[in-house]
Amino acid sequence: MTYENENRPNTYYKIKEAIDKIKIIDTHEHLVQEKQRLEKTPDLFEIFLSHYASSDLISSGMSYEELNFVRNPEIPIEERFKVFKPYWERIQNTGYARAINIAVKDLYGINGIDETTYKKLISRMIEANKPGIYRWILKEKSLIEISILDALDTKIDFLDIDKELFAPVKRFDGFVTIRSKEDIERLEKHYRSQIHSFYDLIQVLERKVEEASDKIVGIKTGLAYERPLLFKEFSENEAEEVFKNIHSQEKPEGLKFEDLRPYQDFIFHKIVQLAGKSRLPVQIHVGLQEGNNNIITNSNPTLLINLFRKYKEVKFDLFHGAYPYVGELSAIAKNFQNVYINMCWLHIISPYMARVALSEWLDAVPANKIFGFGGDYLFVEGVYGHTVIARKNIARVLSEKVEEGIFSEAEAIRIAKMLLRDNAREFYFNRRLSS
Ligand SMILES: [Zn+2]
Repeated sequence: MTYENENRPNTYYKIKEAIDKIKIIDTHEHLVQEKQRLEKTPDLFEIFLSHYASSDLISSGMSYEELNFVRNPEIPIEERFKVFKPYWERIQNTGYARAINIAVKDLYGINGIDETTYKKLISRMIEANKPGIYRWILKEKSLIEISILDALDTKIDFLDIDKELFAPVKRFDGFVTIRSKEDIERLEKHYRSQIHSFYDLIQVLERKVEEASDKIVGIKTGLAYERPLLFKEFSENEAEEVFKNIHSQEKPEGLKFEDLRPYQDFIFHKIVQLAGKSRLPVQIHVGLQEGNNNIITNSNPTLLINLFRKYKEVKFDLFHGAYPYVGELSAIAKNFQNVYINMCWLHIISPYMARVALSEWLDAVPANKIFGFGGDYLFVEGVYGHTVIARKNIARVLSEKVEEGIFSEAEAIRIAKMLLRDNAREFYFNRRLSS
């Protein structure tokens, strides 16, 4: 049952109607370019289980062997569906499954994925998989003006990105995470530069940030997947000693995190400094990591406070509402002028927590500091499902505030526009105007 079928006061519908017309500036996606998507016949499970729902399937009890079996397009779909079905039934309640079900219904006209529908769904997906599918789903169905793209395919060139749909951010985490000579060689190849010394490495990093700075709208980091987000202060000498040690390692297993830390922390500080110099915002993954068996405490946003204090000229966009640390993020964003809240991914991690958190942030944090939507998907259908949940969530929270007598309807609609559009436009696309 959808929310619209319930008895709600008129306020909700009025606000929802206005929100449904807002053209979203989507602050975060990982989508492959359309031509890559069109290279292959779409496989139901390769697409919908490329992430998120797959993690809930594992969490519900599916083994990795079963997941790989289900995702393998070489195996007949009937066999794969049999393995998938009992676990899929277990996760129907979660935001990830709901986003898929919404997309399947609204885009392909299929009511739920079960043994009576999946073959029809597959044929409709194959039919729709032609040039223009991105414009159809992102522009027409999702009403997204532009999406900020964190392309996970590191080989992709900025020139290959469809500029009507995407504006890129770039990661420089590869400079931080080297652990061996082999990693340094990989970095050399990727950046087509020679790195024989610590000095060379810093030079290359500086040059690459500088070269990218007028083509990107921000720098992204996903280091919370690999280590705690506390970046201490180390001297250049301490970092250089570790670099020499890394350079002498043939295999990446040689050094432990504590051995690497002086180097890693120094380089990350350097990246933040370079972002400040180029007036690029820094997007930081905080909170829940995608996948399974991750260390949530590594990604607590309070670990970053020393950076917020030290680099007041740098603007930090903290992702995913820092779920489950939504209260910590609220306190930080309230306190620091240079820290912003991003709800990307959050509406589907937990639709309920997204509403609770947004309601709390709107009581504590200036409304210009909250970005209301980022799809955070690898597959385009997911973005649409996510927008549907996000628009409903925002309408519910704002209409509750109106019913409590806190805002007028007009004020609620003005805030909705800030959350879904104006704040992101100002923050990411008016960089030169404000500098
Ligand atoms: Zn992401």
